[in-house]
Amino acid sequence: MGKIYEIYGSDAHAMTVALMEAARVADRIPKGGSVALKPNLVIAGRPEDGATTHAGVLSGAISYLQSHGFDKISVIEGSWVGDDTGRAFRVAGYDKVCREYNVPYFDLKHDKTRTVKTAARPMEICCRALDTDFLIDLPVLKGHCQTVMTCALKNCKGCIPDKEKRRFHAEGLHKPIAALGAYLKPQLIIVDSICGDLNFEEGGTPVQTNRMLLGTDAVQMDAYGCKLMGIPLSQVPYITMAEKMGGGSTQIREEDIVRLNEPTDAVGYPAPSGTVASLTRGKVQEKSACSACYASLVRALYLAKRSGIKVTKPIFIGQEWKGQTMEGVGVGACCAGASCPVKGCPPTAEAVLEVLRKNG
Ligand code: SF4
Repeated sequence: MGKIYEIYGSDAHAMTVALMEAARVADRIPKGGSVALKPNLVIAGRPEDGATTHAGVLSGAISYLQSHGFDKISVIEGSWVGDDTGRAFRVAGYDKVCREYNVPYFDLKHDKTRTVKTAARPMEICCRALDTDFLIDLPVLKGHCQTVMTCALKNCKGCIPDKEKRRFHAEGLHKPIAALGAYLKPQLIIVDSICGDLNFEEGGTPVQTNRMLLGTDAVQMDAYGCKLMGIPLSQVPYITMAEKMGGGSTQIREEDIVRLNEPTDAVGYPAPSGTVASLTRGKVQEKSACSACYASLVRALYLAKRSGIKVTKPIFIGQEWKGQTMEGVGVGACCAGASCPVKGCPPTAEAVLEVLRKNG
């Protein structure tokens, strides 16, 4: 268990550098050591669609590492079975970043593998992930149709060959994901939560959150991701399984969260996708809401709908409600004057859902 650094904004490169500076990442890497960056390129998709890590996260991390004297940097990834990692590198703009910074990238589908003894069973893992001195996990925080959510632990799945990936699915995913994450234990995790998809690993319904996170414990990071998305840990068994296997801790204390800034992008929420519009239509009175706040509300409305919770009261959200009194659910500190307020700035989806459940 360690600290989780949190930052808001939309410039992935600048946010990544700021997070790494704040956490003094250079002090944690062995001098002269090799560093492997493992993004999420599950498919060949544009990061704006909510499935893949923004190229700015990659360029920010490389630029920070190079400016601190690290020159043995590589980018490693293997897309999901059936997709072409090389195409995914190009579509997400990684080829340009790697050229600009003169950093090699490797398709792990063509990497050598070694069989290691994990807590679940012997497992084949790609050598570039095993042999690096410092593994940096760069996942996207998003939904997943089978495991409910995916973030730091599940992103490690790109470090195994396709035949292992197939076996993971045959085994029901949770136990092997936990064992892989607990074995690999990435030393650093930088989460892209700028616009992850609510439901699908492969993107398509992104929700703007404009948030990034940095931590050193993949289990803790996933537990925090669940909190942000309003998902009880019991719905994502691989997280507590990984904890039991020694992969980290699910405990999060408020003092462990280091907030580098506050959300400030209250200039109107970007044009919502069809799914988002259908969740909010007729219920939500939005006036200059920050993306992170709005994303928590959308996620909570989605979960409320799925659990059959009826939402009848009007919902208020946004900075222009500050200082006013309203009858209904008020999301976040700006709407503290509502009859049913949700605390937080921004609140988590979990907190919004709780108030909807009691007062919706
Ligand atoms: S409570 Fe207000 S300032 Fe805070 S995130 Fe929500 S809209 Fe932005």
